[in-house]
Amino acid sequence: MLKKTDQDIIKGHLEDSSNLQGGHADGLYLPESEADIKEALKECSSKKTPLTISAAETGTTGGCIPFGGWLLNTQKLNKIITLDKQGKFAVVQPGVTLEEIEAAAAKAGLLYPPDPTEKTATIGGNVATNASGGRGYRFGATRDWIRRLKVSLPSGEILDLKRGGQKLNNRKLEQPNYAMPKTKNSAGYYSSPGMDLIDLFIGAEGTLGIVSEIEIGLAPALKETFDVVAFFPSEGLAVDFVLEAKAKNDRTVNFFEYFDTNTLEMLRSSFSHIPAGVKAAVYIEQEITAKNQATYLDDWAGLLEKYQVNIDDCWLGLEASQKEDLFKFRHAIPEHINELYKKHGSIKLATDIAVPTDKFKEMYEYYDRLLATNYRLLFYIKFGHIGENHLHVNLLPKNGEETRTAKEITMKFVKKAVSLGGTVSAEHGIGKIKHDYLRELYGQTGINEMLRLKKAFDPDLILNQNNIYKLPQ
Ligand SMILES: Cc1cc2nc3c(=O)[nH]c(=O)nc-3n(C[C@H](O)[C@H](O)[C@H](O)COP(=O)(O)OP(=O)(O)OC[C@H]3O[C@@H](n4cnc5c(N)ncnc54)[C@H](O)[C@@H]3O)c2cc1C
Repeated sequence: MLKKTDQDIIKGHLEDSSNLQGGHADGLYLPESEADIKEALKECSSKKTPLTISAAETGTTGGCIPFGGWLLNTQKLNKIITLDKQGKFAVVQPGVTLEEIEAAAAKAGLLYPPDPTEKTATIGGNVATNASGGRGYRFGATRDWIRRLKVSLPSGEILDLKRGGQKLNNRKLEQPNYAMPKTKNSAGYYSSPGMDLIDLFIGAEGTLGIVSEIEIGLAPALKETFDVVAFFPSEGLAVDFVLEAKAKNDRTVNFFEYFDTNTLEMLRSSFSHIPAGVKAAVYIEQEITAKNQATYLDDWAGLLEKYQVNIDDCWLGLEASQKEDLFKFRHAIPEHINELYKKHGSIKLATDIAVPTDKFKEMYEYYDRLLATNYRLLFYIKFGHIGENHLHVNLLPKNGEETRTAKEITMKFVKKAVSLGGTVSAEHGIGKIKHDYLRELYGQTGINEMLRLKKAFDPDLILNQNNIYKLPQ
């Protein structure tokens, strides 16, 4: 197996998009097979060497950044093993990127529906964080599309877990004793009565084992889609528009994505054709079917006009190149904000909160009350998956004092979301920078329950140390 101890090479693997600094490792494994993974685990277990798993390093919470020990990067585990057109599934190695999976599926007339925006991310990283994207509104998160996982444990055992197969209690283990929020969720270990063992590993952020093979479900490719970005004269009108559109419960709508005033201002430097004077935007994608094709344009136009949208200002995505431009516009948000974090040398301070639909307005008004009224000078943007009541509020402090203020505000958001039955992480995970938020959600008792499960699979506590929760000293 390839092993590197050259610090110049290792240096290239010490960052992700959290901007968390100070990572270091003594060596790097680059496995090319499951047997290599097993060998690395054996070596680390025998010496109790901490081992951190990294993949495409696009995570936002420092999960792949090592603080000592060795790193294992999955970039060479990049094969699509099978793609079964008839059975609508694929078996892949963990280092295959979303881009590669989506292209291979499209070639076979199929779709891998979870739709995280960052297409260079790997499927292994997506499984570890239970990633999701805009289309999660219609199709669910990564968890919903995982049919089978192979997981390599520090003991050398390789689990082969099928959905609907082995249960957690088959290993004489009990589920954690907390109730998960009834929203999309990537905060801490999954827990549900009678749960499948596979669900414990999805979203476990590599703390229990290394995912070494993945079977994903595929759906028929979308027929035609209609995409539109609509611009609103106020944020309130945009939010109310989405709530009314969602209430129709039209399952041909793939996503609703949101851009607040500051997001649009931030993007103006690259997208100068954003209409003047607008204060919010919503990006919608809908599948065109035999049933809606005659009416969908009029239906949207009617509803958008009700919320004071100038139809002539809307950006339409009817052809492939237009759709690509709209996708780039959406993807530019995290790219721009991540650049700003880098420029300011500031750790990422971003919420990943989702709340139940009937609480979304209350949460939104709370954001505004705190940000627009109490902390007007701090730069922030609110954007994201409004279809699932899931916005990212990114705060960009410029100095030490603003950083303290931003942390204070973020914690207030977290407490408010928990009080409304929401989650503190809907898709990015907890990693190494959101431990306090998880404690708000499940308390120390819940975290102790996770530690109990970790000890069952990783008794020497070597894997992905301090991801999700801090290990006891
Ligand atoms: C511009 C941008 C946009 C983004 N948009 C989205 C979005 O829409 N939705 C979303 O959910 N996320 C998004 N992200 C975050 C990121 O892409 C996801 O968290 C992704 O799942 C990380 O995958 P990765 O391959 O980069 O993993 P890494 O960042 O390398 O690792 C992430 C975590 O997974 C663990 N891990 C990786 N591989 C394995 C494995 N084989 N076995 C066990 N553990 C493993 C790592 O240890 C780490 O804890 C975005 C990031 C960026 C930079």
